[in-house]
Amino acid sequence: MTNFDAVVIGAGFSGMYMLYRLREAGLSTRVYEAADGVGGTWYWNRYPGARCDSESIYYNYTFSEELYREWTWSSRYPEQPEILKYLNFVADKFELRPDIQFKTRVNAAQYDEENKIWQITLNDGSTVTAKYFITGVGCLSASNLPKFNGLENFKGEYYHTGHWPHTKVDFTGKTVGIIGTGSSGVQAIPAIAKEAAHLTVFQRTPQYSAPARNHPYDPEYIRQAKENFQEIKRQMRESTGGAPGDIPTKSALEVTPEERLEKYEEAWRIGGQGIFTSYYDITVNEEANKTASEFIRTKIREIVKKPDVADKLMPSYYYGTKRPIIDTDYYETYNRENVSLVDVKKNPIVEITEKGLRTTEGEYEVDVLVFATGFDGMTGPLLKMDIRGKDGVSLKEKWNGGENTRTYLGVANAGFPNFFMITGPESPSVLSNMPVSIEQHVEWISDCIEYMCENNMESIEANVEAEEAWSKHCGEVANATLFSKADSWYTGANIPGKTRRFLIYLGGVGAYRQKCAEIAANGYEGFHFEKAPAPIQGSIK
Ligand code: NAP
Repeated sequence: MTNFDAVVIGAGFSGMYMLYRLREAGLSTRVYEAADGVGGTWYWNRYPGARCDSESIYYNYTFSEELYREWTWSSRYPEQPEILKYLNFVADKFELRPDIQFKTRVNAAQYDEENKIWQITLNDGSTVTAKYFITGVGCLSASNLPKFNGLENFKGEYYHTGHWPHTKVDFTGKTVGIIGTGSSGVQAIPAIAKEAAHLTVFQRTPQYSAPARNHPYDPEYIRQAKENFQEIKRQMRESTGGAPGDIPTKSALEVTPEERLEKYEEAWRIGGQGIFTSYYDITVNEEANKTASEFIRTKIREIVKKPDVADKLMPSYYYGTKRPIIDTDYYETYNRENVSLVDVKKNPIVEITEKGLRTTEGEYEVDVLVFATGFDGMTGPLLKMDIRGKDGVSLKEKWNGGENTRTYLGVANAGFPNFFMITGPESPSVLSNMPVSIEQHVEWISDCIEYMCENNMESIEANVEAEEAWSKHCGEVANATLFSKADSWYTGANIPGKTRRFLIYLGGVGAYRQKCAEIAANGYEGFHFEKAPAPIQGSIK
């Protein structure tokens, strides 16, 4: 049986950097990746219009200044192919591929308490062992295809945005139906509408979206970013959301309506997430939230020419409590003659038929169905595997359908020694600029492993009390906001039967980094170690 010091799952941003760090530390490391290439989320999400909504000069690794200087982004919000190209560039530069086994899924992992080793079962039935078991599976990699009655009867083609084919899907001359208007749907709808003969959008919840105003970068702007790399990196790491920028200090309610409107108009003109970050209390105070919500509703009424369509597009939940979306011509697309909008909250989908789908109102015939129905977020990717810790207890059993989802810092689990999750539940993860949070976790984990090697430790495990306290703190921070009020994938409300819990730490990237650093500096407070009986042998330095 092959034995590694560490096994990492996933070759996206997380797994690639984890591999780099562990190899640098002298550990024999193997990454398993289900796809046939690197990229993670950017490998799978190839739907038309897919692009990032974090600004590209911040949506990259910062661990290597050389890498930062060598790579040049074309535009503010690059499209999926460019991000995938970047990740391939990283894999080539650091020669990562020889330690990644592609087209391989990890089905199960079981902690062997006696030998203090993880037994990891792959999809070909073989087993490898590793002292450290680390997941870099992302928060949004388990696609959610709702159980619509009759899908098997559909005679046309159908696709999920999160699992898009590698060859181009040609919509020319076809009638297309798309279900879902989250970030994926809002990006795909304008792109598909340009090609299809007719596009019908099946919308359950209308969304707030602001224009991205993507544009090619000015070479001088890029030159300055590269010049100021160290300062940008510091600001990213100390920020709230993982990108430089002013932390809002004012309440939306302490300024005059004129001043507030001017601020929102300016944010709308510049594009991006400016409305979301304009005042500190947008996601905390209902009245403050209303000012931003109403501003976007007014914009929708201005853009969408047909009043009945504009009415259907009017969102009513608290702005920002579902992922704030940025778009390119989303609302404008509803002015096209070849696009129609169906409200499936009022008239729910009853079944998928041979020729299309039926709502309570009638049947819609389509050649192609696109499911932009999202993901089983946060815990879904982890629970796709059968991960078992001490006493054979599985993560699924421990978390009990979401009722008991608890972690320590979002990186470790009581009962699961030597198991680390990169951007796991209850870390800042998806409510931050992901690469920044990924780098912080990867560095914290590799520092911890090096500490264990230096101190001859055989295992590390989170304490139950520390885990409970962290989970409680995480919940208290979330409950002081409006986030937990929304039916979103943030809370698990999009998955039938999943207990509603808000599993993202909202304390901010900088504060979280400091907390993790203090815990490490205090000898890994909240964890307990077991010493190895004899000095650790093997490839570890
Ligand atoms: P999502 O935000 O969960 O949206 C799923 C959509 O499908 C929602 O409109 C949902 O309606 C609808 N839906 C789900 N089940 C349905 C059903 N049974 N019947 C009718 N409608 C149904 O998923 P997503 O758009 O894939 O985005 C997920 C996350 O991925 C984003 O929030 C973001 O974090 C990330 N993402 C980022 C980017 C980017 O960087 N630009 C792009 C894509 C995705 P309800 O709202 O009513 O549930």
